[in-house]
Amino acid sequence: MDNIEEKIINIIDKNRGRIIEFARDILANPELGYKEIRTAEKVAEILKELLEELETNLAITGVKGYLKKKDSEDINVAIIGELDAIVVPNNQHANKKTGACHACGHHAQLAGLIGAAIALSDSEVRNSFKGNISFFAVPSEEYGEIEYKLSLKDKGLIKYGGGKSEIIRIGAFDDIDISIVHHLDPGKYDIGIGDKSSNGFVSKLTRYKGKASHAAASPHLGINAVNASSIGLSSVAFQRETFKESDTVRVHSIITKGGGLVNVIPDEVVIESLVRANNIEAIIDTSKKVDRALKAGALAVGGSVEIKTEPGYLPVIPLEPSKVMIDIAKELLPNGNISITKKGDHSEGSSDVGDLTHIMPVLKFSTGGCIGQLHSSEFDIVNEEISYIITAKIMALTAYRILRDNNSEAKKIIKDFNQKFTIKEYKEYMDNLENTIEVNYENE
Ligand SMILES: [Zn+2]
Ligand SMILES: [Zn+2]
Repeated sequence: MDNIEEKIINIIDKNRGRIIEFARDILANPELGYKEIRTAEKVAEILKELLEELETNLAITGVKGYLKKKDSEDINVAIIGELDAIVVPNNQHANKKTGACHACGHHAQLAGLIGAAIALSDSEVRNSFKGNISFFAVPSEEYGEIEYKLSLKDKGLIKYGGGKSEIIRIGAFDDIDISIVHHLDPGKYDIGIGDKSSNGFVSKLTRYKGKASHAAASPHLGINAVNASSIGLSSVAFQRETFKESDTVRVHSIITKGGGLVNVIPDEVVIESLVRANNIEAIIDTSKKVDRALKAGALAVGGSVEIKTEPGYLPVIPLEPSKVMIDIAKELLPNGNISITKKGDHSEGSSDVGDLTHIMPVLKFSTGGCIGQLHSSEFDIVNEEISYIITAKIMALTAYRILRDNNSEAKKIIKDFNQKFTIKEYKEYMDNLENTIEVNYENE
């Protein structure tokens, strides 16, 4: 560690109480995607004191702060934190009303981001390197509430469901050259370096329409939308044998509207689904099979169905684990349990980080300090030092170390990166996936 790095660590240690207090406050006040109003305000409040420039309300709630004045010539490294929570009502930290809960630990990313901003904005630290650092709090990583997202789309407030996808679309990633991202990973190690490959997905909002009538006296006059949905979902399950193991396909649905009163033949059912696979071709192929299967439900009962498909996330293309991050992890915790992602490690989950990995180099690390599975009732933080403070130190030290020495490491990362999509190509890909199918079998 050089003198500046020692200073970064000292500043974060001195502000330990403030960083932990911030993390606890966000953990206690979880908000769902594109509704992270309070969370974004808390982040902006602190960043405003520390940074040169601050942009807010990006993709509704996103916050982006610049350490130094914007200069397009400079290499700009983003430290990213996600603002949103997930719905896990039985977790002890859940909001009683909304069920929202930081059971994916995104509050730890924000704590890291705030801690890194406090350290890097020290004037000596700030002036010790060339290049800029952006602190970027982004909305809506968890892809849920599809109907709500579509309502935002109808109002013209967003176009894509994922926060990073939307932020890419509006151009707020245009001036970022490298992103640093973090996630908690419960129960395995203190620090994990690198990212796994992952599944990507498209989302579907399916609405079956039937006809209401008396459920006992005149069911023959009705068209039962619950029956249609039941056949539709069963037909989706029957596609399973056609999925190739190597594509790691996952199709999963929830029913968000399933009838009104048991006395009445239900005339509307709404289903939200995600169709996932580890490559774009398999996502598109499976999406078509799911559409065909869902249509079968409406055909069987003589009802109608509308299926709205939206682009979700791209599969993560992981870089080799960052050597800089590995060195930093070992220097911070010489006796710690440090894990390095192996080539071929795969997660069937998805993240809008996948979209970023198609466009720019993304350096990923994880920290532990937590227990239970992600998205579970048992998920909890048990070691704030590892979950929050070590996270802040790795974020700050990585950004500094790749920018010091005339940006030499950052230049190398950018030169070695194999870009899959320009931002223009990315938007074209996303827009091509948008699709609405409407069929009515009432007269067949
Ligand atoms: Zn999650
Ligand atoms: Zn997450």
